[in-house]
Amino acid sequence: VGRTSSPDHVASRAALRKAARKPKRIAGPAQRLASLIFPQRSLVTNRELPGPGAIEPEHWSQLVFLGPPQCQRCGLAFGFEAEPRQLCAACLAHPPAYERARAALQYGDVSRGFVLALKRAGRRDGLALFAGWMHAAALDLAAEADLIVPVPLHYFRHVRRGFNQSVWLAAALSRRTNIRLCVDALVRRRATPSQAGLDPGARRRNVEGAFRARKSRKGRLKGARVLLVDDVFTTGATAEACAKALLRGGARCVDVVTLARVAGPRSVPI
Ligand SMILES: [Zn+2]
Repeated sequence: VGRTSSPDHVASRAALRKAARKPKRIAGPAQRLASLIFPQRSLVTNRELPGPGAIEPEHWSQLVFLGPPQCQRCGLAFGFEAEPRQLCAACLAHPPAYERARAALQYGDVSRGFVLALKRAGRRDGLALFAGWMHAAALDLAAEADLIVPVPLHYFRHVRRGFNQSVWLAAALSRRTNIRLCVDALVRRRATPSQAGLDPGARRRNVEGAFRARKSRKGRLKGARVLLVDDVFTTGATAEACAKALLRGGARCVDVVTLARVAGPRSVPI
């Protein structure tokens, strides 16, 4: 007996046709809200999750949330109890241009998944969650900030990708904190090659002077405490270059908050 003549097959084809005619079930407002707050696909693996939540339970335990004790300036996590205003060796020798840098998570397998979900997959459903974590990691910075500014992409890269994940994070943090957002305060004037795979010195040279404050936004920057937002703090070279540009543009002070931070000290010129 051939497959096409099987009654089951006929029945299932009829069921399929019926299902195709049946209008799609419209989710109620509560469900739609729930799916906004709790994405149904993992932010780490992109797999469908059976219940509400953004992350598989086994990944939660791998997340390292950053906080004190840490370097007062660059946020480097200390593995020991420290004075509240303790600085790391790098910041003592070469204070950064920014006042303080904080990050929600240590950069690792799981948090890299979050960054890729944003950057490669263009997923926005984790933004509220990420903004909550970033806010918690930078409560005092946010309490004092006048303006949130994202790290810009170069125009061509922005056009090619279609979005800038740092703008998304900055906008989500602005919504959460009610701090004013200025998405285009900075301009990336050089199409710098990707920072990936570069050693610290090359990273610094790569972004040195790559940013400037936009002329038409200097009025807004003047005297402002700026909270600069990026996805990952790696060596701190990008944060440093952006902070310098913002200060030259008239900002009074620049703090930095990122979703993730690579473990280990920031790089400083030797
Ligand atoms: Zn430090």
